[in-house]
Amino acid sequence: MDIRLHNTLTREKQAFSPQNPLRVTMYVCGPTVYSYAHIGNARPPVAFDVLFRLLRLKYGAEHVVYAANITDVDDKIIAASAATGQPIAELTAHFERKYREDIGALGVIEPNVRPHATEHIQGMIEIISELVAKGHAYAGQHGVLFHVPSMADYGKLSGRNRDEMVAGARVEVDAGKRDPADFALWKAAKPAEPKEARWDSPWGEGRPGWHIECSAMAKAVLGETIDIHAGGLDLIFPHHENEIAQSECAHGKPMARYWLHNGFLSMDAEKMSKSLGNVKLIHDLLKLYSGETMRLALMSAHYRQPLDWTEALLTQSKATLDRLYNALRRMKDVEPADTGAPQGVLSALCDDLNTPLALAELSALASEANKSGVQDWPQIKGQMLAAGALLGLLQHDPDDWARGDAADARRIDAAVAARMAARKAKDFAEADRIRKELAAEGIEIMDGAHGSTWRRL
Ligand code: AMP
Ligand code: ZN
Repeated sequence: MDIRLHNTLTREKQAFSPQNPLRVTMYVCGPTVYSYAHIGNARPPVAFDVLFRLLRLKYGAEHVVYAANITDVDDKIIAASAATGQPIAELTAHFERKYREDIGALGVIEPNVRPHATEHIQGMIEIISELVAKGHAYAGQHGVLFHVPSMADYGKLSGRNRDEMVAGARVEVDAGKRDPADFALWKAAKPAEPKEARWDSPWGEGRPGWHIECSAMAKAVLGETIDIHAGGLDLIFPHHENEIAQSECAHGKPMARYWLHNGFLSMDAEKMSKSLGNVKLIHDLLKLYSGETMRLALMSAHYRQPLDWTEALLTQSKATLDRLYNALRRMKDVEPADTGAPQGVLSALCDDLNTPLALAELSALASEANKSGVQDWPQIKGQMLAAGALLGLLQHDPDDWARGDAADARRIDAAVAARMAARKAKDFAEADRIRKELAAEGIEIMDGAHGSTWRRL
């Protein structure tokens, strides 16, 4: 079972081989937490959750370390805090919790590590100091800048030419740049900026630029060279290009060996984005559709392809799940055989995460169940459930699903996700409160290797 992944850096599909099969490392750029996430923001966590599950299956859950960060300092956060009067730490903690609940309801397993930018300021200062010492960065009146011409192979990830890079860098304020493509590593504090968003540094009070946080967090939690680095297509330039510049110039070795990027989720052929205002919040969608329906919708296109978010897509996804759950209901009284995931599903996922093909294979199993006799059911049911676990689907009791009690299931999914988040945050009192509340309704939470599920007793 060889995994092949499309690497943005080499522009081809390559066999994946980790540096150390006993410690496979993956880093996905996470959200900036100042408001609710939209369903486009869920595409990277869902796509790379499938990869996480596949890697755990292949290398063993204890041999895969997955980090996804939280950006909890940035211009938009400072602006949101100023607009609402809510302290920054409170605002970011609130929206981080909401984010985790939302993607938890989409069946996303919690990464092993969730580093926060504000917890890694010292590591960022160390990398910046290293870059200054090596002549890759310089301090000016407005902070510290990375000097792009100091890196011979700058631009290798995006393949942009000089003019495009300069145009891309121009969105940043021209803070005494030696070269128009130079970008900020450290931003000197402005008088109006709040105390909570400034830190001491060798270059005076200020805060980090955006790109440096991922260089520091990836290094701190995974190492100087990681196996897989992923995120949305829009991050290739400048974010990932600049992460490469910072990490590689500071450490003298590759930052990541495989770079993966998901395509955009669109609505009416336009990228879903907060700045365009054409967003559907996960939080609102969960009032209408179950998390699994949305997860299946997100997986219905290959992760590198664009995907248009429509009502028809959701209706179709719900119908597909209904059919799968109906097959499982029919086989309700049969003990599933311990088959593991079926070959067709595995090879589809191993081929650069071909989820549409994997879903077709799963649907074919349901057809087989409907056609074949009881003697074949243990095998088919075992395969369906194993494929479901790998894809993060079929996690409900088929009777609950059939009852169409979707609103209720959604509420319970969200409560289970909230309990998980509370446990991660070591708020055991809150976790226990949620568990007891559900138990009072006759709902039992089952904790397993792939996260928590629930059932009615
Ligand atoms: P942001 O909060 O805009 O920095 O986005 C967080 C993550 O979501 C990044 O990895 C983005 O690439 C990704 N993302 C944002 N919008 C979309 C979209 N419409 N489709 C797919 N991914 C997106
Ligand atoms: Zn990043």
